[in-house]
Amino acid sequence: FAISNKDDNKVPKVDFADIGGQDSAKNELLEALEFVKSKEEIKKLGIRPLKGLMLSGPPGTGKTLMAKAAANYIDSIFISTSGSEFIEMYAGVGAKRVRKLFKDARDKAKKADKNNAIIFIDEIDVLGGKRGSNSSHMEYDQTLNQLLVELDGISVDDQVNVLVVGATNRIDILDEALLRPGRFDRIVKVDLPDREGREHILKIHTHNKPLAEDVDLEQLAKETFRFSGAQLESLTNEAAIMAMREDAETINRNHFKEAIDKVMMGEKLNRRPNK
Ligand code: ATP
Repeated sequence: FAISNKDDNKVPKVDFADIGGQDSAKNELLEALEFVKSKEEIKKLGIRPLKGLMLSGPPGTGKTLMAKAAANYIDSIFISTSGSEFIEMYAGVGAKRVRKLFKDARDKAKKADKNNAIIFIDEIDVLGGKRGSNSSHMEYDQTLNQLLVELDGISVDDQVNVLVVGATNRIDILDEALLRPGRFDRIVKVDLPDREGREHILKIHTHNKPLAEDVDLEQLAKETFRFSGAQLESLTNEAAIMAMREDAETINRNHFKEAIDKVMMGEKLNRRPNK
């Protein structure tokens, strides 16, 4: 089987400076990563290592970016997968995949001569939903149990420090066993950006774009209430496409205005329950 660990054992080139807004999430994450870095002190004091960290928040707010920046920060290999990749019709397959995921992470880190491995599981609620609930059945339960076994098996004496970073926009449906101490016991909330955050994100994504003088990012941030980071990125791209269509050399305020409508319209079409 193939887990799409496209990013494999390379350290992703995402830096915390590439993430706009989200100051408190970034600070909490950095604090947790400092802890991961102080392995020797942790060992001496008999503290259990940080094994799991949960990024919780709406889609498109930068959870994947944060996991990548985290890997970069602690010079770790990065293996990326999604909860849905563990769900199979056949009994035992999901659990086997979980086992292989952790084994692969350790093997790849050793091969790359790294001490740290981050396993990123997007949409972790798909495999980590409450056991025995309506949406859950035996196969899901076995997969989740295996994930718990792997988390419990992480030890401060391991040669490779494995940190599992989960991402979800449905923390409410996660099985409580996942959030117990020693498992995903750090929850970092990643919310929609506030006005300042939006301005920062717009700055990041217009950094390499020629803007006309009438473009005021502070004003644009005001006009994009409730936009996610992903939508703001899309907005800057759409505005650039509008400029190209008009053979304009710079992207002006009107291009942005049209792009806002377009992104808002797309959002309406895409809106699904629970999203
Ligand atoms: P999902 O829950 O849908 O997987 P996510 O929270 O993991 O979403 P990302 O995949 O990290 O979101 O974001 C998608 C894209 O949106 C990023 O590649 C980036 O271009 C842009 N983006 C999102 N949030 C931010 C941010 N805070 N700063 C800069 N860019 C952002």
